[in-house]
Amino acid sequence: MKRVYTADSVAMAWHIRNVLEQYDIAATVRNDRLYSVAGEIPFIECLPQVWVEKQLDIRRAEQIIKELVSESEIEGEDWVCENCGEGHATSFALCWNCQHSIPSNC
Ligand SMILES: [Zn+2]
Repeated sequence: MKRVYTADSVAMAWHIRNVLEQYDIAATVRNDRLYSVAGEIPFIECLPQVWVEKQLDIRRAEQIIKELVSESEIEGEDWVCENCGEGHATSFALCWNCQHSIPSNC
């Protein structure tokens, strides 16, 4: 197991994990339920992290994440999941909360 990314938000961490999964890279998100421990450990340790399970996948995972992160820096209109109401940046093609896809009619 190796940490490949520390995200600013739980949504971003899950987004990256879901994309890695699409590439058949087994990854897990840690610290996505951090509120019970916040305050007891340094803030940076509380940020959601993406960990890749297999040593072999790490290089590829880091490359994918690099591309993802640079894409997400391009600002766009946010969208709201029509299924659960969760808000997202345009770089998210799937709802991180319920996996519902982006509305195609807007
Ligand atoms: Zn949703």
